[in-house]
Amino acid sequence: LGPTVCVGEILVEIVATTVGDGFLEAQPLVGPFASGAPAIFISQCGRLGGKSAMVGAVGDDDFGRVNTDRLKRDGVDVSAISIDPDYPTGSAFVRYRKDGSRDFVYNIATSAAARFGWSQTVGDLIDRSGHLHVMGSALSVPSAREVIDKAVDIVKARGGTLSVDPNIRKELKLDEDTERRFSKLVAMADLLLPSGEELERAAGVEGEAEAIRRLFEMGVKEIVLKRGADGATYFGRQGDRIEAPAFVVREVDPTGAGDCFGGAYLTSRRLGMSQKQALTYASAAGARNVTVLGPMEGAGTRQELDAFIASTERRP
Ligand code: ATP
Repeated sequence: LGPTVCVGEILVEIVATTVGDGFLEAQPLVGPFASGAPAIFISQCGRLGGKSAMVGAVGDDDFGRVNTDRLKRDGVDVSAISIDPDYPTGSAFVRYRKDGSRDFVYNIATSAAARFGWSQTVGDLIDRSGHLHVMGSALSVPSAREVIDKAVDIVKARGGTLSVDPNIRKELKLDEDTERRFSKLVAMADLLLPSGEELERAAGVEGEAEAIRRLFEMGVKEIVLKRGADGATYFGRQGDRIEAPAFVVREVDPTGAGDCFGGAYLTSRRLGMSQKQALTYASAAGARNVTVLGPMEGAGTRQELDAFIASTERRP
């Protein structure tokens, strides 16, 4: 089957180099870095040598070119990234606090990222796609939601597969329609990639074991739960479970770990690796990415991840 396609927002990220409380006073910044959770995911897929393509939009500006140039270099097909003549590329400013939490200033709602829609080019790509990856957060963007609805139906109807990263905070209340779409999307996932409390949020029940049981009941085929520096766990429908201990690294910038992890897991599986092998590459991709400043600057190639795995300790 055809390429892995990811649909969603493409942004640049500009990061404060000082740790502090928000953006009220001037501080040095670095960037622009190519970003947007879906773009990070597909970048990692491309870097690992998986056939991959991105659907989204950028403005006709340098921030847009930072992204399309980067994804092209990673081997990602960018033909379905549209260039919006009227709206700028989306952006996010990030500043870390002492406790590791982050402050964000976003410009997404009034950017190209929130305005892309279905087109002949998108349709042609989806018609030959073998796998679709979707973030739950994209469902709150009306134009992305339409593309996702159509794409999921087409890919599933032709025997392709779907992975979903719920990417929705536990406290976030969605309106009834978006909540229904979210549950439907989760239920259709061949692979669900929640992190932390997103597991319970996606299942709609409390407790890890109960949430896993409920998600399989809803129709999910495989779950990989991401636990940050505590590693990850694979859950299969037959009650099988594989622990993936984290690599020991010094965290410089946590942004993008989950997307690199997901992109590496999915691509490794699509290239024919076992779950255990794919988990090792995924854990390495997530860990390596947090050692480098910038959301996807640490996404590794196969050779880089092999070298990382050979030279880095794993937690017991
Ligand atoms: P984000 O939203 O920031 O992209 P996430 O919450 O979706 O991340 P995490 O659980 O933070 O995902 O990270 C995904 C995986 O990356 C983890 O399961 C782990 O394997 C690896 N990882 C993340 N942070 C670290 C770390 N500090 N040390 C080692 N491995 C890490």
